[in-house]
Amino acid sequence: MIRENMARTEEKIRQACRLSGRDAADVVLIAVSKTKPLSMLREAYEYGCRDFGENKVQELVEKYEALPKDIRWHMIGHLQRNKVKYVVGRVSLIHSVDSLRLAQEISKESVKKQVTTDILLEVNIAGEASKFGLSCSDAVAELAGQIAGLPAVRIRGLMTVAPYVEDPEENRQYFRALKQLSVDIMQKNIDNVNMDVLSMGMTGDYEVAVSEGAGCVRVGTGIFGERDYGNPAGE
Ligand SMILES: *Cc1c(COP(=O)(O)O)cnc(C)c1O
Repeated sequence: MIRENMARTEEKIRQACRLSGRDAADVVLIAVSKTKPLSMLREAYEYGCRDFGENKVQELVEKYEALPKDIRWHMIGHLQRNKVKYVVGRVSLIHSVDSLRLAQEISKESVKKQVTTDILLEVNIAGEASKFGLSCSDAVAELAGQIAGLPAVRIRGLMTVAPYVEDPEENRQYFRALKQLSVDIMQKNIDNVNMDVLSMGMTGDYEVAVSEGAGCVRVGTGIFGERDYGNPAGE
């Protein structure tokens, strides 16, 4: 089932790229495997998937230890400062940075481990009260400027979790706004700040996100099926 789902998702990404004049090689499909058992991740891995997204530190670390080391792990969930030490050195991209204090901790831990950690700034582009992320473009630009001065973190772009909607077209405005924000920040020419990566689009709306310039889409349900939060083991 997972192979078929991955193949179908990749095909839809290719089609969205064709329709919008983009190169499919510029879009990374991140398989969001939170709550799912290792057996399912292995199946995706065998199909060829090397990018996995998790939103809980402990679960990410356990899966990291159990699976092949050529996987690129994406931390996509809210990250507490006291857990930064577990993800630095293990993840290839932290998508959810929304404060200077968090970035400082990531930098401190990265210096200690002698690595550079790539991060995205999380933007609450629709201004939803229930969501994490920076809620205005001035705050994003200001934070980018502050983080740029830290030694061992590198801002690669922006991430957003768009609202839950019935019709994915409703989110096109938000994907477009995130893209525009990345262009505005690039134009400020802040040293050490890149805006190459836009992480946007999930199962319900990734095709729209791709057509608006997504560089990573985060697809969980569309690959692994519905999540069952009722089962504490997540299986
Ligand atoms: C769970 C999650 C996803 C994947 O959601 P689906 O709708 O299952 O594709 C994407 N991004 C984030 C930040 C998530 O927490």
